[in-house]
Amino acid sequence: MISSQKISIVKTVLLLDLMSESKLSFMYVAITDDKTCDLCMRHDLQIMSDEDAERAFPYLLKGPNDLVWYPNLHKNCRCLLVLLGGM
Ligand SMILES: [Zn+2]
Repeated sequence: MISSQKISIVKTVLLLDLMSESKLSFMYVAITDDKTCDLCMRHDLQIMSDEDAERAFPYLLKGPNDLVWYPNLHKNCRCLLVLLGGM
């Protein structure tokens, strides 16, 4: 039998653990039209963490805030990484 006190301690620890995760999640949004390349299309609507984005896109440009980043996958890339929230 697990006491309710123990359960509340476990819940608190889990909550603190969640809050300590500073990962952000982004959605890759390609501007899709007849000029969109296959590379960008492949990433379209993909959800990734900030760490994954930094790893995947070496030329990543971060906006003045974290609301929108630019993966900058190639010259004249118009894609966006839109912040969804913390993970
Ligand atoms: Zn692109």
